[in-house]
Amino acid sequence: MRKLVFATLAVALSSTFAMAQDDFDYTVDRFADIEVLRYQVPGFDQLSLNQKKLVYFLTEAALQGRDILTDQNGKYNLAVRQTLEQVYQNYRGDRDDVNFKGLELYLKQVWFGNGIHHHYAMDKFVPQFTQEFFDAQVRALPADKLPLCKASGQTVDDLLKVLDKVIFDPTYMAKRVNQADGEDLILTSATNLYEGVTQQEVEAYYDGIKDMSDPTPISYGLNTKVVKENGKVVEKPYKIGGLYSEPIVNIVYWLQQAASVAESDAQRDYIKKLIDFYTTGSLKTFDDYSIAWAEDTKDDVDFINGFIESYGDPLGMTGSWEAMVNFRNNDASTRTSIISGNAQWFEDHSPVDPRFKKKNVKGVSAKVITAAILAGDSYPSTPIGINLPNSNWIRAAHGSKSVTLENITDAYDEAAKGSGLNEEFAYGPEEVELMKKYLTVADKLHTDLHECLGHASGQLLPGVDPDALKAYGSTLEEGRADLFALYYLADPKLIELGIFKSPDTYKAEYYKYIMNGLMTQLTRIEPGKDIEESHMRNRKFISEWCLQHGKKDKVIEIVKRKGKTYVKINNYEKLRGLFAELLAEVQRIKSEGDFEAGRKLVETYGVKVDPKLHKEVLARYESLNIAPYKGFVNPVYHVKRDKSGNITDIKLTYDENYVDQMLRYSRDYSPLTK
Ligand code: ZN
Repeated sequence: MRKLVFATLAVALSSTFAMAQDDFDYTVDRFADIEVLRYQVPGFDQLSLNQKKLVYFLTEAALQGRDILTDQNGKYNLAVRQTLEQVYQNYRGDRDDVNFKGLELYLKQVWFGNGIHHHYAMDKFVPQFTQEFFDAQVRALPADKLPLCKASGQTVDDLLKVLDKVIFDPTYMAKRVNQADGEDLILTSATNLYEGVTQQEVEAYYDGIKDMSDPTPISYGLNTKVVKENGKVVEKPYKIGGLYSEPIVNIVYWLQQAASVAESDAQRDYIKKLIDFYTTGSLKTFDDYSIAWAEDTKDDVDFINGFIESYGDPLGMTGSWEAMVNFRNNDASTRTSIISGNAQWFEDHSPVDPRFKKKNVKGVSAKVITAAILAGDSYPSTPIGINLPNSNWIRAAHGSKSVTLENITDAYDEAAKGSGLNEEFAYGPEEVELMKKYLTVADKLHTDLHECLGHASGQLLPGVDPDALKAYGSTLEEGRADLFALYYLADPKLIELGIFKSPDTYKAEYYKYIMNGLMTQLTRIEPGKDIEESHMRNRKFISEWCLQHGKKDKVIEIVKRKGKTYVKINNYEKLRGLFAELLAEVQRIKSEGDFEAGRKLVETYGVKVDPKLHKEVLARYESLNIAPYKGFVNPVYHVKRDKSGNITDIKLTYDENYVDQMLRYSRDYSPLTK
């Protein structure tokens, strides 16, 4: 539950952090509400041959799990993807035909969403091609190209009966993850993490197996699908010999290769523990792996590979499969090591009740990294900051690793230059200038503080269930980390530590945060919809709460000018005071497990959208012609070998387009559709 996504949307910047290569073409593709970018991997050529091999083996392990996520996201996703890809590749008609164009668009969306739902909004994509066209194309394909279940003697007619409903019936599997208060969240969510069970049955099942007195509980349900078998609720683990066995076998093969070139014994040890976890499915082993992984902060090359974040589960139990490979960016890591080196000072001085503070903040390691591959739940849409592991007791006892993906942030910034977003939405030239000057550095600091300190701060009172906040847990946790970061961005300590030069730096982030929370993030929501996604809810509840609670002092004002709405911040210092007040309350809610107060806070301030303002924001945004969501293609790895097959070097190229990459991944990394 600890992922920071790119919140800025788009900012025109004169960035001192920007990369040197001006001629690098960042934009790869543009469709629907998506812009696909590419990122560079600076520093890869300077790695040792051994490190290059390690990165390469881990990238293979990362790519092998692609189908797992797609299938977790919906039980028909792989069949939809494979069928569409076959039509797309074998179509002999006019490729400018409106139906074919519609199918191409839909396929691009399915690739991006790792399924038939929008990766962020969770709604089903609306096909811009007819069922007649689709059916005719599928019938024209030879049967061996279609995902027909041979064991059950499935025919093309059987397949179309399912796929037509899945693709063309808007009421069927309408939402991947439903968070609507009061509904059965499992029955109304299309995710493939549960089958044949109700929310009540699943909650009763977990209540029955959870040992609340265990101070080191496993992450219940993290790697399982919950189903009903012979009338009984059971968990089906993802492991070799269990669900997703074929891709997991491939992942393990490449992890074994990686272990053979590990940088240290510690690294080899945790790679082996991860292999054990994939082999046995034991969550106790996963905890052992997580501890060993969190404690290894020395090695340069690092990776994530497993069932990690639980946003894809309406109950927040099962982890979506995710992978990423990276290596340390030594220059930029100095910044985060200063922050984490002062973790205890920040904890001691935070505005929360001393009972909820950690007496000893342990091992808050932080580094800036260069991403080398993105996969699973991090691809094509990717976070810019990650803090793991997620298990509360492991974080408390063994610390956590926090990373900022600098090459990804740089690609976002570069691609966003000159979008005109701030000029359109900011109150005036003063605010535009403020953001131009300071936002790049303030944004990076916000990410660092959120990840290194925010999530790591605070503690639960003894006996409080870490899952007590249920469906509101992710939103409140992200809000807590954001508030911690916002509060400290304005602290003179950052200037004292040499991180900020100007005392006005924080104002750029404050302004952007409130403008985004109240207005610009609405560009990501369809007209008539409420806010669903956890990070968006957290930004909204923080911004809206501060607007309402600062009203009598006019801390934040909503100003109308020529029919357009603007956010104006009159008093930045008082705004910091409001952040402090809210941080104390959100920490209390988390520490005490006060579900009712948490629910009220989120439902009152974080969900509802003013339809009139929403309409206005969408119209203004549309005039700028910016894609609200961005994602990435990966570089291509080229392995050079000598005559005996030994790897002599590895080179990266950045010339693959979106469609080619997706088709290549489906061809080379798709054991579940063979
Ligand atoms: Zn977070």
